[in-house]
Order: sequence, then C-alpha cells, then structure tokens
Amino acid sequence: MPLYEYLCDKCGHKFELLRALSDSGEAAPCPRCQSPAKRVLSSFASFSKDSSGQSTPVGGSSCSSCSSTSCDSCHL
Ligand SMILES: [Zn+2]
Repeated sequence: MPLYEYLCDKCGHKFELLRALSDSGEAAPCPRCQSPAKRVLSSFASFSKDSSGQSTPVGGSSCSSCSSTSCDSCHL
C-alpha cells in the first residue's frame, strides 16, 4: 500500500499513513485530536500531473520532416 501524508487542520499535526489507493482521497482521523485530517498532495504528484499536461500539445501537430502544422503537403 502507498504511503500518504496528512495534515490536521485543527491541531496542525502532520502524519503519514499507509492506505489503499481507493481510500487516499478521504479524510483520515488525526492520531492526536481525532478530527478528520486532509491529505497533503506531495510535490511528486503535482509534478507528474504538470509534465503530462505539457507533453500533450507536442506530439499532435507536425512530423519531424516538415515545418508546417499539418502533414498534408509532405505525404508521409
Ligand atoms: Zn489533530
């Protein structure tokens, strides 16, 4: 199971918890004050989301042998 980081809004306690992926979006009980703590999104998760979003427009437009935005003129 993956390890997730949680931050309690109420007491500010930060803790790690092993949870199933399907449970990761739900609040976890704080071990200090028992109030529901929200998951902290790691920098790795936000980085992978950014890189996949940026790589999308690169592949779609033209082939490497022509400089136009479509390959209608190069017949490849
Ligand atoms: Zn707490």
